[in-house]
Amino acid sequence: MSILVVGSVALDSVKTPFGEIKDAVGGSATYFAVAASYLSPVRMVAVVGADFPHEEIAFLKERAVDFKGLQTVEGRTFRWSGEYSQDLKNRRSLCTRLNVFSGFHPALPEEYRDSEYVFLANIDPELQLNVLEQVERPKLTVCNTMNFWIEGKRSQVLKTLGVVDALIVNDSEALQLSGENDLRKASRAIQSMGPEMVIITKGEQGVFVANGGLFFSSPAYPFGTVTDPTGAGDSFAGGFIGYLAKTGDHNEAHLREAVIYGAVLASFAIERFGLEGLRTLTWEQIEARCERLRTQD
Ligand code: AMP
Repeated sequence: MSILVVGSVALDSVKTPFGEIKDAVGGSATYFAVAASYLSPVRMVAVVGADFPHEEIAFLKERAVDFKGLQTVEGRTFRWSGEYSQDLKNRRSLCTRLNVFSGFHPALPEEYRDSEYVFLANIDPELQLNVLEQVERPKLTVCNTMNFWIEGKRSQVLKTLGVVDALIVNDSEALQLSGENDLRKASRAIQSMGPEMVIITKGEQGVFVANGGLFFSSPAYPFGTVTDPTGAGDSFAGGFIGYLAKTGDHNEAHLREAVIYGAVLASFAIERFGLEGLRTLTWEQIEARCERLRTQD
């Protein structure tokens, strides 16, 4: 089943202890779409400026990503820059320039309205809500957000949370959003804001999942290397929702499998700078890591 994603398509400048990249194609919707496209078809809604190098995402057209909802307008593409600490555990956003996103009003192509799976990737919560209102009868709606929006547009973030089925956030953002000091309490507090399902990503410590009264943890893929953690959360979401859309069901067994695909796609994303780690995977490579994660002691 097709997944609709709205989020940022960006030019990222990133510095890690292993090097740096400047104006590389990134963005929350992009990482998500690349990862999810290994499992299910993806439809993208976003905007870029006239400076966007479309040829760099042309490879995605061959892999079931539909760009009919990606508008190109005059002006500059969204830009983000960030720097990681020596141990890669902390990230500082140096600059966030919304550019063409600040005047963006998404109009969903008619054929996107029947999308059954919707991912509201990290972007202005007003845009997330606007897109969601244009979808007819989604089966599962999931959103993500970050400190930038929790601090700058908290009431709009809460409005979006009031109408989605699930939230995927990282641990520090879960604590910031809920005001709690441990993840179990944070997940309960977030559930009371709306979403029945709360998935909290914890970097190398894996994920914590709450779904109604069900709680479980699942590990990160522990055998890879990390060069650039950018996009880990979105790639996790891509693998996770991609798997659920492929099966058409989110019962407990499928949720447990979905977090494995999420962890594996994230592990590929962070091995190289930008989108490089995700660009040319084979199904066999993905399955081999899933199997290793399923069977590890
Ligand atoms: P992640 O590492 O999974 O949090 O995703 C990083 C991606 O999010 C980068 O490619 C950025 O372009 C994008 N990003 C960073 N800040 C924002 C923001 N405020 N709104 C939307 N996207 C953002």
